[in-house]
Amino acid sequence: MRYVIIGASAAGQAAAETLRQWDPQGSITVISDEAQPLYSRPLLTYLLSGEIRPEKVWLKGADYFQEWGFEARLGEEVVQVVPADREVRLASGRVCPYDRLLIASGARPKVPGIPGEDLEGVFTLRNLADWRRLESGLEGVRQVVVVGAGAVGLKTADALMRRGFEVTLLARGAQPLSRMLDATAAAMLMDAVATMGIDLRCHSWPVALKGDGGRVKKLILNSGEELPAQAVLFSVGVTANVDFLEGTGLGDPGGILVDRKLRSRDPRIFAAGDCCRPHHLLSPGQWPYHIWPAAVDQGRVAGANMGGGSRLYPGLLPQNSLSLRGFKIISGGLGPHDTKDCEIVAELDQSRGHYRRLAYREGRLVGLTLVGAVAHAGIYFQLMAQGLPAPEPVTPGLLWG
Ligand SMILES: Cc1cc2nc3c(=O)[nH]c(=O)nc-3n(C[C@H](O)[C@H](O)[C@H](O)COP(=O)(O)OP(=O)(O)OC[C@H]3O[C@@H](n4cnc5c(N)ncnc54)[C@H](O)[C@@H]3O)c2cc1C
Repeated sequence: MRYVIIGASAAGQAAAETLRQWDPQGSITVISDEAQPLYSRPLLTYLLSGEIRPEKVWLKGADYFQEWGFEARLGEEVVQVVPADREVRLASGRVCPYDRLLIASGARPKVPGIPGEDLEGVFTLRNLADWRRLESGLEGVRQVVVVGAGAVGLKTADALMRRGFEVTLLARGAQPLSRMLDATAAAMLMDAVATMGIDLRCHSWPVALKGDGGRVKKLILNSGEELPAQAVLFSVGVTANVDFLEGTGLGDPGGILVDRKLRSRDPRIFAAGDCCRPHHLLSPGQWPYHIWPAAVDQGRVAGANMGGGSRLYPGLLPQNSLSLRGFKIISGGLGPHDTKDCEIVAELDQSRGHYRRLAYREGRLVGLTLVGAVAHAGIYFQLMAQGLPAPEPVTPGLLWG
């Protein structure tokens, strides 16, 4: 059996290893356009802040592919998948035939499409090459604007502050992490961000970037205000890497729709990780959700099924964990907008900086936010993941250490 996997990161690697267990003899080809894959993307902001050294990001050694008996095609870009011929075509002209294909090509940062985006000093952060570009572009910079106050935007802003830059963080809505946090948790986060010295601006976004000598100099905000910046970093969401599927009807920038076995509409083609649109555990919809552990779980399920197994993906459980200089937030399940019909148990201990919001539907926990005291998050996630009846809205104060 010939297996081909596009992408050698969280999902691709987990799938390849699982597949090897299911089919010790099969030929497994792993393709990545990164010359050195197998590193931790979540550690990129720690690399940026200087908290870790570059060698700490590697997850596997140089012999990894050989040890597992994988054929690695690194630094090679897939330009087309042709389902009718069961072929993957590479930019180099090489063709990789397959019996089963996994698409684990992840996602890339979106940019808003405003004038001035092509100026020098404008960045995104998705991979090691982006980090290197950013590092070399920060020389002589004093003011940086991070556009987008999601988890990655917040961590990037923190990393840049630690490096001594003046950082402004723009949130399009009324608060950061608007899909995850209610107003109380968001207010605590905003206080922490202000204490860190980050200038957080809500209801703010750039409408144009202006430069001088080809290099960015300022942003023009929606309010008309001009914000000086010698570097701008966009963190405004991602789009699935599926250009090579054009014309196949198998995927679009929103991701590849998959069934419970993580098969696309073509039963020989599977998808996992940031490029796929899986079922969710607590709601009927299918949409992409970009976290490392979900990519690994999906990779394992897809790998087993490619190798002849019959595993069902239980559904994605959103989980977020953010730690900014000792200020900790863990959230998961359904966010505040999706729990309006739920019973909410919320407790705030202002003096200790602790907040807990639990959302219950029909006696089951479906949404969680913990601020400050996060020690018992694992218990809550188990309750949600297994759909166990939660002990009557957990007694307030019981689980706080
Ligand atoms: C800065 C940052 C911080 C993050 N922090 C966290 C965190 O704290 N916790 C968390 O859970 N998640 C975090 N994430 C998200 C997490 O990294 C992703 O969810 C995870 O990497 C998804 O894995 P994946 O295998 O689906 O895709 P990816 O990791 O994106 O890997 C896909 C691979 O496929 C390659 N590829 C794409 N197109 C092609 C092509 N045409 N040809 C060949 N190869 C191709 C890509 O270059 C890449 O190497 C963070 C992400 C970033 C960028």
